Amino acid sequence: LGLKAKLGLDVFKADKEAHIKIRPGMEKDPRLKRAILVCPAGLYSENAEGVVEFTIDGCLECGTCRLACGTEVLEWNYPGGGSGVQFRFG
Ligand code: SF4
Repeated sequence: LGLKAKLGLDVFKADKEAHIKIRPGMEKDPRLKRAILVCPAGLYSENAEGVVEFTIDGCLECGTCRLACGTEVLEWNYPGGGSGVQFRFG
């Protein structure tokens, strides 16, 4: 299976609130742009104005964006109990 097909096997349950947030005013920070390159689920993108946009749906909770961008840029917490990704192996 390819990566996308494998990711399709995982199950996601949304938390009440997004567990990762771009801190206010950091949407154009160069450190945030690293997340576009490193997020394995491809959840970060840059729009025509150079603003980084993010969606939480499909987050694997791997923490790569936290390490790449830093917590000055991202507020990063694990989702609440019972929420988030449930991995399927195969
Ligand atoms: Fe992407 Fe991992 Fe960050 Fe989730 S924790 S947004 S999957 S890099």
